[in-house]
Amino acid sequence: CGVFGAFSASGRPVLEDVYLGLYALQHRGQESAGVSWIDHGNVHSLKGMGLVHNALDQGTLSSIPASSAIGHVRYSTFGGSLFQNAQPLAANYARGPVAIAHNGNLTNADGLMHYLENRGAIFQSTCDTETILHLMAHQAHKNPLDALMDALRRLEGAYSLAVLLEDRLVAARDPWGFRPLVLGVRDDVTYVASESCALDIVGAKLLRDVEPGEVVVIDAKGTLSLRIPMTPRKGFHCSFEYVYFARPDSVLDGRSVYQARKELGRRLALRCPCSEAELVAGMPDSGTLAALGYAEASACPFEIAVVRNRYVGRTFIQPTQRVREIGVRIKLNPNGEIFRDRDAVVVDDSIVRGTTASRVVSLIRDAGARSVHLRIASPPVRFPCYYGIDTPCSEELAAARMDLEALRREVGADSLAYLDETDLVESIGLPEEKLCTACFSGRYLEGGTCHDLEL
Ligand code: 5GP
Ligand code: SF4
Ligand code: MG
Repeated sequence: CGVFGAFSASGRPVLEDVYLGLYALQHRGQESAGVSWIDHGNVHSLKGMGLVHNALDQGTLSSIPASSAIGHVRYSTFGGSLFQNAQPLAANYARGPVAIAHNGNLTNADGLMHYLENRGAIFQSTCDTETILHLMAHQAHKNPLDALMDALRRLEGAYSLAVLLEDRLVAARDPWGFRPLVLGVRDDVTYVASESCALDIVGAKLLRDVEPGEVVVIDAKGTLSLRIPMTPRKGFHCSFEYVYFARPDSVLDGRSVYQARKELGRRLALRCPCSEAELVAGMPDSGTLAALGYAEASACPFEIAVVRNRYVGRTFIQPTQRVREIGVRIKLNPNGEIFRDRDAVVVDDSIVRGTTASRVVSLIRDAGARSVHLRIASPPVRFPCYYGIDTPCSEELAAARMDLEALRREVGADSLAYLDETDLVESIGLPEEKLCTACFSGRYLEGGTCHDLEL
């Protein structure tokens, strides 16, 4: 998912900026989009299914005079792809209006839901995010900010949040900083966004990342930084954001996604060279930058040899296997003029179920390639993600179901090679202990944190 928020200290309308910010975060979720703002003490929302421009109307939003607002684009990792799960989730509760936009997955959501339902909460959605609203509502003796802080310390897992309270915008990031979250500024407007590319679109300057475990409160007086009162962590940032999920024009936790992706490709060329290759092609769009790095480091020409239909959404967003298969076929077309009678290296960022790889390798063969050498710019994905990326369970992960040789045969490549974990970490350029690599390594967050739930 993607979150965005804006707060104008001088009362200027910001909903059009939120619309634009969501537009730049569209790659983070295409199932639904929504915005919330507060007017005369009441929270209002507009939400819809599908892409930002289908779900929301720019004209309507720009005519609303709200000076602080948040927005969300969703792809489901917890709870189905349903309208009632579209975010932001908003409520006018005993202590006032509140709206929440969430990226990440709470790993203790089931326990929290059970606990809250036993105390009378009636859930309107099947979203883990709704637990945060109920936790706040169960603390009605506290002001909304204190109730929010109290709720946050009961959460486990991943959350990057934009929260709207009366006269305040709050940005909060879990103590591990799984999912990205940045702050930006333009004139009197302060922004919070999942990625810096969303700040660029509204002409805002990237101020900094919200730190793991930090809660930034933005109001007319300025910004205030609070800490989630839990064991301090040094960060456990999602390495997959750099491999695949984030946009390459974003800078996350101080590291350019573009540079990281290209470096993954360069190292892949050094670790897994292919002497007979006459050309290097990327699986668009996700493999393009790694392919560019591979071509550079191997001094082999880079070709745009697989063409992507830009009007088809990212295949993995589609919920069913049937739709997923059709999606790949509609989406990618190898260019016979370039592949015919040549030995090709094809680079992709990752193999998940293996659908894309087998389908495209066979299309490239049909297009006349003499050989197809598949290179993957990350280690094998063998484990599911519980922190907000929709990787399937191990039984569906191609690299967990079979060994390298079996997978090579399954996808039909002449050779298949992956980058290793050390190169992954070094390409990203953040310290190893600050990176989550669980879907590759199986090393999940140790123990988690267990809190006394009693309110
Ligand atoms: P596959 O076809 O192997 O299931 O998916 C691999 C392709 O989907 C890769 O080209 C990669 O860009 C993209 N992908 C990346 N991350 C994910 C993810 O979390 N889930 C899924 N299903 N696909 C992903
Ligand atoms: Fe990212 Fe993988 Fe960790 Fe999930 S398990 S947070 S996808 S690195
Ligand atoms: Mg891809």
